[in-house]
This record gives sequence, structure tokens and C-alpha cells, in this order.
Amino acid sequence: MQILDRFWGLFSHDIGIDLGTANTLVYVRGKGIVINEPSVVAINQKSKQILAIGSDASKMVGRTPAHIVAIRPLVDGVVSDFEVTEQMLKYFIDKVHREKFSLFPRPRVIIGIPYGVTEVERRAVEEAALNAGARQVFLIEEPVAAAIGARLPIQEANGNMIVDIGGGTTEVAVISLGGIVSSRSLRVAGDEMNQDIINFARDKLNLLLGERTAEEIKLAIGSAMEQKENLQLPMRGRDLVTGLPKEIIVTSVQIQGAVRKSVQQIVDAIRATMEETPPELLADIMEKGIILCGGGALLRGLDRLVKESTQTTVHIADDPLTSVVRGTGLVLEDLENLKGVLVPTQFNP
Ligand code: ADP
Ligand code: MG
Repeated sequence: MQILDRFWGLFSHDIGIDLGTANTLVYVRGKGIVINEPSVVAINQKSKQILAIGSDASKMVGRTPAHIVAIRPLVDGVVSDFEVTEQMLKYFIDKVHREKFSLFPRPRVIIGIPYGVTEVERRAVEEAALNAGARQVFLIEEPVAAAIGARLPIQEANGNMIVDIGGGTTEVAVISLGGIVSSRSLRVAGDEMNQDIINFARDKLNLLLGERTAEEIKLAIGSAMEQKENLQLPMRGRDLVTGLPKEIIVTSVQIQGAVRKSVQQIVDAIRATMEETPPELLADIMEKGIILCGGGALLRGLDRLVKESTQTTVHIADDPLTSVVRGTGLVLEDLENLKGVLVPTQFNP
């Protein structure tokens, strides 16, 4: 079995997957990131048929007729919709397998899972990947993968703090000797900020916004702290009074106000995690700084706000949206040495 596996290993292209609530990324060993698409699946509710997955499905969000729904199967960061997740994984694994090397044997797969998911949820991800065509499945906690992706020396006896702000969840973790020492996970991240903007437009401006519009506004002028310039943008939606299309100019100050509560919850989680961290590790973190990753790390001024609220240096990871998947990739490249940081499963007892 071992010999056969080593033999297959010479030919198969192992893959690392970041199954994020907002985006799914796939890394192929020796090739790099080959897929980066939204974690969305469009389903015909009448026939239960899957119509589109990834970018194609994402274009349908908010634009489907009544019997078609575009769903995000991982909204809370775990497999909330098992069958749909399995289909999505299968689609992405097939896509890599088919396009690049259909003659090769089935791949070994490493998947990032949120810290603190239950045994049942872990099994669900493992099963989904096996059913989707993986030869072996390894799981890694997302904060650990993100830290590896950010090139933090997590296997040393030294504290590292990583804050991953995604779509559905924010995860704060202190890592030392390859394991998580203290952590917090909250269901407040990018999606919640979009919802804040929708609520603000509805309550303060009588304007009904779509999710995509809210996201575009957040990316264009959103911020966690006052900026030098007060940016402006026309915001389009439906006037709740007349029912007709309407455009209203919004400012970055208004949007900052709208997302303030969510941003504060993230900052509070970072502080609470620090309070539970042993002092030696805190000293290490003071020296190296807190690392922000995930798409939410790019919110303007968030790094500065975290710095001021924690009295600690803050760095945004390079290319923060790909930290987790690059971490899974680095593990694939050096599986023997890094096996210890993986979650125990049937393939890694
Ligand atoms: P996940 O790991 O949950 O899939 P990602 O790390 O891919 O999430 O991040 C997606 C989230 O990051 C989305 O909510 C998106 O709106 C947000 N995001 C991406 N770029 C920016 C930006 N420049 N400013 C603020 N938020 C951003
Ligand atoms: Mg993520």
C-alpha cells in the first residue's frame, strides 16, 4: 500500500483547497493557485438540478427567477449544506483533474477547515472530498494554514497571532509549536459589513440595496477609521417610498459609521484573545506584530484601528485573500515535515 502510494505520488498532482465561505481557492502542487472562484452554487429548486458553480453561479446572485436559487453552502464556515458542498468540491477537483492531467491518478487533497468545528463536521468535509474523487484527504485548521501561508515560524516555541477576516467568519488565533494556544471565532466578517450597509441604506436613506451593490460600495469607499479624504460614491437601489430606481450619493464617513459595530466586534475579539494568551507569547506577538489576513484585512484603516486598540504592531499579510490556500500548498510541498500540524484523520492518525 505504502509503496503503491509512493508510486502514485510520483504522478499525481496533489491539491490544497481553501473552502472559504466567500471564495474557494485550489492550489496544485508544482503549479500554484489554479482556481479562485466564489463559493456559490445555483440550483433549480423544482428539479434539484445544479445549474452552475463558482463564478458562473455568482453572476446569477440576485438575478434568478423564483425557482432558481444561488446558495453559498458554507455560509457559516462549516458544511451547512453537505450535498451542495460535495458537489462544489467535486466540480473544482474535477476541473483541476480534467483540465491539467486527466491521465494522472486521483489526487491527495488537503483542505482548510475552520478551527473548532465538530468531529461530525470534520467527517463531513472528509467524506465530501473522498466522494468528490480524492485519493486521500488531510485537514488543516484554517488559522494554521493562514499562518504558514504568511510564512510565520509557527513550529517554533514562539507566539504568532493571526486574524483571518473572511466572508462569514473571523478567526483569531495564537499559534505556537504548530498548535493553537488561544483563539476566538465569530460570525462577524465581510458579509455582516455588507448587511450593515444594506441596513443603513434602508433605515437612513429609504433605499433598498442588493448584496452586490453593498459589497461594491464597501470595497470602493468602506473604512474602519477616518480617512484623509472623505470619498463619495453614487449608490443605486430601489426607493422604498416610490418603488422606483434611485441613486443617492454616499460618503466614506457614512459607510464607516454603518460598519462600525461589526468592526468593533472584530477588535473586541482580538483583545479578548490577547487577554487569554500567556504573557511569554504576548511578548513574542508584541515583537512580531499581529498578522491580518482574509479579504476583510483589506478594509481601509482596519490595521491602524487594531494597532491603536491593542497597542501592538499590525501587519497585513501579503496577498491576504490567498494566505490559507498558499499555506495548504506549502504543506503539500513538505508533507513529511509538516504532518504534525494537520488535524488527525483516518489518513493521518
Ligand atoms: P472566505 O475565506 O470566508 O471565503 P475571503 O478571505 O475570501 O473569505 O474574503 C472575502 C471577504 O473579504 C468578502 O466579504 C469581501 O467583501 C471582503 N473583501 C475583499 N476585498 C476587500 C477590501 N478591499 N476591503 C474590504 N473587504 C474586502
Ligand atoms: Mg478564509
